[in-house]
Parts: sequence; C-alpha cells; structure tokens
Amino acid sequence: MKSAPAPASSMPQQPDPKELAAEIVKALRYRGGKDANVATPHDWLTASIKVVRDRIVDAWIASTKQIYDAQAKRVYYLSLEFLIGRLTRDAFSNLDVMAAMREALASLGVDLDEIATLEPDAALGNGGLGRLAACFMESMATVGVAAHGYGIRYANGMFRQEISDGWQVELPETWLDHGNPWEFERRERSMEVGFGGTVEAIAGPGGQDERHVWRPQERVLAVAYDTPVVGWHGRRVNTLRLWAGMPVDPILLDRFNAGDHLGALAESNKADALSRVLYPADSSAAGQELRLRQEYFFSAASLQDIIQRHLSQYGDLHSLPDKAAIHLNDTHPAVAVAELMRLLMDVHGIDFNAAWDITRKTFAYTNHTLLPEALESWPVPLFERLLPRHMQIIYAINAQVLTEAHASGQFDGGQISRISLIEENGERRVRMGNLAFVGSHSVNGVSALHTQLMKETVFADLHRLYPVRISNKTNGITPRRWLFQCNPGLTALVREAIGDRFLDDIDTLKDLDAFAEDAAFREKFAAVKRANKERLAALTAQRLGIRLDPSALFDIQIKRIHEYKRQLLNIVEAVALYDQIRSHPERDWTPRVKFFGGKAAPGYHNAKLIIKLANDVARVVNRDPAVRGLLKLVFVPNYNVSLAEIMIPAADLSEQISTAGMEASGTGNMKFALNGALTIGTLDGANVEIRQHVGEDNIFIFGLTAEEVAERRNNGYAPRALIEGTPELAQALAAISSGVFSPDDPNRYRDLVSGLYDHDWFMVAADFDAYASMQRRIDAVWRDPAAWHAKSIRNVARMGWFSSDRTIREYANDIWNVTA
Ligand SMILES: *Cc1c(COP(=O)(O)O)cnc(C)c1O
Repeated sequence: MKSAPAPASSMPQQPDPKELAAEIVKALRYRGGKDANVATPHDWLTASIKVVRDRIVDAWIASTKQIYDAQAKRVYYLSLEFLIGRLTRDAFSNLDVMAAMREALASLGVDLDEIATLEPDAALGNGGLGRLAACFMESMATVGVAAHGYGIRYANGMFRQEISDGWQVELPETWLDHGNPWEFERRERSMEVGFGGTVEAIAGPGGQDERHVWRPQERVLAVAYDTPVVGWHGRRVNTLRLWAGMPVDPILLDRFNAGDHLGALAESNKADALSRVLYPADSSAAGQELRLRQEYFFSAASLQDIIQRHLSQYGDLHSLPDKAAIHLNDTHPAVAVAELMRLLMDVHGIDFNAAWDITRKTFAYTNHTLLPEALESWPVPLFERLLPRHMQIIYAINAQVLTEAHASGQFDGGQISRISLIEENGERRVRMGNLAFVGSHSVNGVSALHTQLMKETVFADLHRLYPVRISNKTNGITPRRWLFQCNPGLTALVREAIGDRFLDDIDTLKDLDAFAEDAAFREKFAAVKRANKERLAALTAQRLGIRLDPSALFDIQIKRIHEYKRQLLNIVEAVALYDQIRSHPERDWTPRVKFFGGKAAPGYHNAKLIIKLANDVARVVNRDPAVRGLLKLVFVPNYNVSLAEIMIPAADLSEQISTAGMEASGTGNMKFALNGALTIGTLDGANVEIRQHVGEDNIFIFGLTAEEVAERRNNGYAPRALIEGTPELAQALAAISSGVFSPDDPNRYRDLVSGLYDHDWFMVAADFDAYASMQRRIDAVWRDPAAWHAKSIRNVARMGWFSSDRTIREYANDIWNVTA
C-alpha cells in the first residue's frame, strides 16, 4: 500500500534525508544517551520525534511572535478531554517531512511505519467530545487561528479495554511509560490552585465597596506541559497546554519526623490524584467530588495563565474580551465563569457590573448533549465547601439574571425557576449548563437538529430571555487525519483523478463526483477499498484469530457503548438475520460481517451487558455451520483513535442508528462517509445534514424522526404489543431471553429483554422493522457493485463540507471574532 501523500506542488521543499539521518543519530546519542547498536525501536522513535520537534520549535516560536507583534486576539479552548491518538504521523505529514524521514530512517535500517505504531495513543478523552477538541486543535493551526488548548495531562487517560470471556475488563492505560517526547515540561509555569477554606469580607474605604478575600484551606500546583500542534504545511504551530497536579509541599517533614510516613505524603497523593485518571463517563455526569476538583483545577490554572499573558502584554483587564476568546467545551470548565469573576473582582478590584460585562464578552459555550443524565449539576453543600467564594459569586450572578428575567415580564414562576442557576427541587444543586449559558455571549449546538432541540428543550427559557445567543456550528473532522493519513490508498487515487487541489481546499473534493460514472475509476476505487478491508481482516486474524472474507460486506458500528446509540438494535437484527439464514438456506443472502467496537462506562450495567451479548451472539453465529459463513460478528477490543484509523477506511457500511433526537451530532458518521462507507442511519444529529450533502439516494435513512419519538413518548408508547405483532423481532428476543446465546447462564439477558417489553425507552422495537427492511435493501444494492461504488464515490466527493476547517472558520467569524 502507498503511504501518506507526497508533498503537493504548493508545499515547501523536503529536507535532505541524509542530514535528517545524521540528526537522528545525534539525537539518539546526545539526547537519549545511546549508540545506534543498542538502540531499541522505541529509542529510534523518540530520536525521530525529537528531530522533527526541533523543526517545529522554530515555527512555533515564529507563530507566537507573530501574534504578539500583531496584538492579535487569541482563542483559548478549555476542554477536560483531548482524544489525540498518535501524533507522529500527524506532525510529520503536516510538516511535510514524512517522505524524507522515511528515507532517513530506512538508511539507518529502521522502518518508519513499524516504529510509528509503537507510539501509544494519547487517549485523554472518552469519545466524540474529546476527539472534536483534537480535530479543532489541528484545524485551528491549519486555518491560522492563534489558539491554546487547555486541559489535564492525565497520567492514565481513558482505560484500556480487554475482553475476557466476552466481558469488558478495564485496565489502566500507561501511555507515559516511555515518556512523551512531544511535550515540554514547564516547571517555571506553575499555577497555585486552592480549595476549601473561608471567605473574608473586608470593608473598603468609607465602609462601602467591600472586597472579598478567599483563604483556601488546601493548595496545589498546576504544572504546565506543552505540546506543539502543527497545522497543515506547518503554517501555524499552536500550543496544547495540559496541567499536571503537584504538591506545594512534596513531603510534610514534621509529620514524617513524627513517624506518620503515609500522612507525610498525603499532600502529594492529593495533588497527584487531580491528574491521574480521566473519568470514563461519556454522556453522563461523573458526579464525584474529585471530578469537580479536576474541573476547577484546570479552569483556575488556565485562567491565571490567560490573565498573566494578557496583563504582560496589555497591562489592563478591561481589554480582555478584545484580545481573548475563551471557549468552554461543554460545561466541564463552566466554573471558569465564576473564577474569572472572582479574579476580576477580588484580585484586580473591578466592580461586579464591569466584571460581569468582561466575563460575558470573553466566554462562549458549546453544548454537547441534551441527555438529562449528562447535564452537570453539583450539590450546593459540596460546591460551597470546595469553592466557597465561587458559590457566593454564583448567587450574585443568579440574582442578576433572575432580576433580568422578572423585568422582562415574560416568565411565570415555574419558568423563572428553570432559568435559575440553582435547582431548588429536592437537594439544592448548582446547574453548570445554566451557569455556562448566562456567562457566555454565545452558546452553540453541534448540528442543526441538536441546536433546534436545545432551543425547544433544555434551554427553552434561557433562549427566550436571551433570544440571539444560541447558534449552530455543525461539527467537523480534520481531513488530514481522517482521510490523508488513515487512507493513503484512497488519497493517492483521488489525487490521480482530480489533482492536488483538494489537499489544501477540501471543498474541491467535489470534483470527484463525476468519477462515480467512470467504470475504470470505480474499479480502482473498489481495489483501494478491498486493500483496506484486507488490512482489517489481517488485524482480526492476528489479534482475535478470526478469519474473514474481505469480499463480504463490512458493516461497522464503532463508538461508545450506550443504549441511545442502539448497538442492541444492531445485535437483535443480527439474531433475526441469523434465524432467517437458517430457515431459508435457499435464498441469495449477501455475506456480511458485522463489526462492533467501543467502551462501556465501568458503572453502566446495561452497556457492559450489551458487549457481552455481542460476544455471546458472535460465538454461536460464527460457529454455526448452517450459516455457511454468510454472517459473522466481530467485537474488536479497545476501540480508540488508532483502531478507528484502520477500521473506518475498511467499512462498506456505517451504522449511525441512534434513537432520533439523542445524538447531538456524531463525528464518526462523518469519518465513515468521507472514506466512502455508505451510512445506514436515523435522522439524528449530523446524519440529517450528511443526507443533505450526499443526497438521499446515497444514504440509507430509516426509522422514527425526533419529532415522532417525542410524540410516541408523550402519547404512551406500548412496546409489548408492537413486539408481539412483529414475529421476527419477537423470535429474536425470545432466543436472547431464553438463553440460546448464553447456555451457561440462561437468565443473563432476561432483564435486558424485559426492559424492551416494558418501556423500551430507546425505541428499539419501534424502529426494528424499518431497520431490518433497510438492511435487506442494502443487501440488494450490494449485489450491484457498480451502483454501490458509485454511491460510495459520491459520498467521498460530497463530504468536504464536514471538514473541521469549515467548523473552525464559523467559530472564528461568528463566535470568537478572530481572523482565520
Ligand atoms: C470519532 C470518534 C468517536 C466519536 O464517534 P461517534 O460515532 O460520533 O460517537 C469516538 N471515539 C473515537 C476513538 C473516535 O475517533
């Protein structure tokens, strides 16, 4: 297979491989302290990264100076998650040194592709939200937005998933075992962050204007680790600054000397815990005290950093909104609103009204989900204990907002209570979504449908009070990683067809559209897909010992395991199909492999059970000689960015089948379509817009709309009668429920299935028929390869709009007011 694209004509000259080889050997020797004879593959990787990193540093410093000199506005992207994956290919390719490095290493007897796979994934995120942050960082550097990403340097990011006897097992991911050659530790850039303690009010001169002084009980240090983020052609280099927790006092010597050896290290352990693990909660609030501490820890460190940078250049905080746009990626950093208010008022002596004005002009907020269980809120007593001054400030903000709401005369008591930052029903809680909303001048959803639903549901009242604040910014993905790097075969073929323009201007991918009609091109396109499928088949053979036929339809559902994403619908349909294949051996069945991958939150019982079910069904179906290999199920463990990069280019069919109204956008859906997979999907999230772009003939849409789902729920949905009236579904559920796939524990799935009969909140039964019939229509289209590949080519050609470059330009123009 061909490797990443060689430089386009617009790219700068590649460096001399001979010089690079000398630099690599030098780095190995003087920075790694090793001789080439004893160097391990990891040593070669580290040395190669250091050599490229040196080149990045020059561009990085130049980028920083340029923004400083131009006094340009900077973007600060605050995100508790950055799901980066590997960086080596990304950086080498964006810096145009891939071919030269490959040649340099080859001259030293080292294979770049081999050592590149040794790099661990930086898995500092759960799923879509964290991956979006990573795509945005790359796109900001590419389109020329001066930006800093801020987050936490989790020593153990997302857990590593193993499958043992079909069950998910969670293991710590130790991605820093071999160090992280990409980052720069900046001990000198340490910020002190406090927790707990008391607030003292000090009367100002003349008795008015009292000032508040927060005296925290605990203090920790946040130490900066910087990773340069290289844009396409190295145009800009931005900074991802991740904070690690360090104790102010590494050891409490008095305690140690008194014989309390563990107690002496308590501070150290507490600080360490702040940047130890990422909560593996996706689309649900983690709800633990440590999580709130993490949120405040990185928000507070980042704001101090931002303010120091601003003051050192401009000397005054009133100009902050002109020079800084701070973006809240979901509510996780929402406490930053209260922290900025605190800094402005208590530290810099600005009065409430002026501080509130600066704050709202500086912040913007992206909402990522409407699921009630995902909307963050914190018990008032906990919040007050950890952040007493912030609690006071939140009350003051709330008073201001509620006064505005009253004054507008538009709201009754119930509506006012929904606007409040404090939930008063039952246990009093701080609503972080409302805090983020009122503290921002701009609030956005991540797809057209999601934004509409935001206005109608969670933020309906706040939207009435502030009617121009919400806007839509449909998510995107970076085509560098999600096409050029992960699918070099397709990239080379597209270049052969339409030239290199699309590498710099992804909109021109649409020139490929005409090639859907070209039989010779379709053949080549099919050969590329085939090679990608062979690569995936080799992986499943090697890792799982499962042999697959690459000419079967590869049907892939990879994403977090969640009931709303409906992996269960897919598995139940597989069981129904299994039954049909056995009952009707005479029919012309389309050979199909259903791939699954994804992690379940460790505490999410049903999600973990769904993983087990996929594996149980796979074991029975894959072995049954009556199936004659026509249907196979494969659960690929430890879904992460690197696995996505192998699976997505190999997909024929992309499963995007969430209950309509529940997936905010999805970005997996975009990656698949860009790589030529056809989508089977509901009208949910960005699927709606993908349909508009690729055309309804080139996508398989089925099932209830968001409106219909809401209507059914309101009018008493009765799944039992529905299931009983659908024999294929009833039979499949009976088989699962009665233990056909779990003879060792026949009751394993009884409750899961009875949940479908009783309430079926995610409408698996309601959509089953539409889904199963659409799958059979897909089988039919598959049997006409010319038609299939034409649709597939049109998907590739029409997906350019879903580039995160487009999304970032919209943020830059409409929200941040920076040039891009
Ligand atoms: C893109 C991506 C996601 C998001 O997938 P969805 O299907 O949109 O939920 C999650 N995890 C990884 C590793 C990804 O690359």
